[in-house]
Amino acid sequence: PVRVRFAPSPTGPLHIGGVRTALFNYLFAKKHGGTFYIRIEDTDQTRFVPEAEAYIFEALEWLGIAPDETIGKNEKFGPYRQSERKAIYKEYADQLINSGWAYYAFDTNEKLDALRKEAEENKQTFIYNHTVRESLDTSLTQTKEEVENRIANGEHYVIRFKTPVNEILELNDIIRGTVKFDTNLLDDKVLFKSDGMPTYHLANIVDDHLMETSHVIRGEEWLPSLPLHYLLYKAFEWQAPEFAHLPLILKPVGNGKLSKRDGDKMGFPVFPLEWKTTESTSMGYRENGFFPEAVVNFLALLGWNDGTEQEIFSLEELVAKFDLNRVNKAGAKFDPEKNKWFNHQYLVAKDDATLADLFKIELNKKGIATNLDITRIVGLVKERANFVTELYDLADYFFVGPTEYDAKAAKNWKEETPGYMQNVIQEFHKIDDFTSAAIETHLKDWMSTNEIGMGKIMQPLRLSLVGALKGPHLFDIIEMIGKEESIARIEKAIA
Ligand code: GLU
Repeated sequence: PVRVRFAPSPTGPLHIGGVRTALFNYLFAKKHGGTFYIRIEDTDQTRFVPEAEAYIFEALEWLGIAPDETIGKNEKFGPYRQSERKAIYKEYADQLINSGWAYYAFDTNEKLDALRKEAEENKQTFIYNHTVRESLDTSLTQTKEEVENRIANGEHYVIRFKTPVNEILELNDIIRGTVKFDTNLLDDKVLFKSDGMPTYHLANIVDDHLMETSHVIRGEEWLPSLPLHYLLYKAFEWQAPEFAHLPLILKPVGNGKLSKRDGDKMGFPVFPLEWKTTESTSMGYRENGFFPEAVVNFLALLGWNDGTEQEIFSLEELVAKFDLNRVNKAGAKFDPEKNKWFNHQYLVAKDDATLADLFKIELNKKGIATNLDITRIVGLVKERANFVTELYDLADYFFVGPTEYDAKAAKNWKEETPGYMQNVIQEFHKIDDFTSAAIETHLKDWMSTNEIGMGKIMQPLRLSLVGALKGPHLFDIIEMIGKEESIARIEKAIA
């Protein structure tokens, strides 16, 4: 059965790279009727950020891609937090020592630093591997007794993987096909430390095995770890899961990898890390007014497409169509403008009443109480909005009359204009059925009867009511704000 995982390290807010990994795992699991679980990889205590774990769950919940199994939820293979599985890993590290796949190394940091420096001076890089391991302070050249004594005496040690020599590994990646690795170029990675903590590599493999992971779907930055992981499965004599390394996410311009720095400018953590404690409004998709469905949609297209031109997919459609074989190898460009476009598509697709409810929350925040038909206003302006938070700026004139008038538009305000506007007020008084169509018919009749050109009336009238030459159909605006308010605004404009 398909069992996949998202295995984040709680080191900060979740950025789009991580969210995309979670999403692709989710889609793959759902597509195959499998299980999506989350394991928290918190063995590196130096990079641990306490709020980050709850944040990850909150973010995935918000996006609608919560796991089937994790801490506190269907804990079939728990605990799902690596720091609570400490006792498990030692046993497996010992197993590798006993089978000869790993060894103890007692080298001090000073010694290793000196070796690195020396190599650097010779324009080389020091690699801890088969060429040097026999000459260093390791259990490979010491008696079992000696080694046991040193450990018993509390000497600092690490357990390193004994990478096989002279092997070319041809490994399969679902997205990349065969990937070759020369084991002579690998270093003997640390698996376990004397403080009792495993490193990422050991904990990750042990847990993927114990938690019966069928597929490892993760970012391309983990591809260099693939040979070690494969060799670890071999060393344990376990069946390895299948691997799929997702393409890098690239900067909007240039060819670089998208970095957290780019992110801060575009606000692309899901929401700020301090989401519970501060009122921060700028950082994060949620704070910037993105709909979770829109975020899921555009993240799904970062490296995947269904082979057609289709761009808008609901989560259900994504589940139905997702296919790891259609994920690209090439990096996917992150385009913030396109993200907004997606949000716009989801915004206009919502019915006006639903949008009105969201808009009312914004109006409340601004302290605006109104009897106006918000649903209708939303319907009039939503085509121009990417975000609910933009609706007010597009519709402000419905709620408050202009306090200033656009200077350029005011050039059409001629000497005779106030007189015409007085006439308009008089005509308004004559209209009983104050609806858009009726007002339009009445004013147009009046203009043609009196041979007054449209330009003399329409632009100044819009300027009086709106303050600028913007907005939807003028007669809709007049109906919406009503006779009394319209007259008041015209009077103010000609005063
Ligand atoms: N803990 C790793 C991370 O932070 C997991 C990598 C993997 O999926 O193997 O991304």
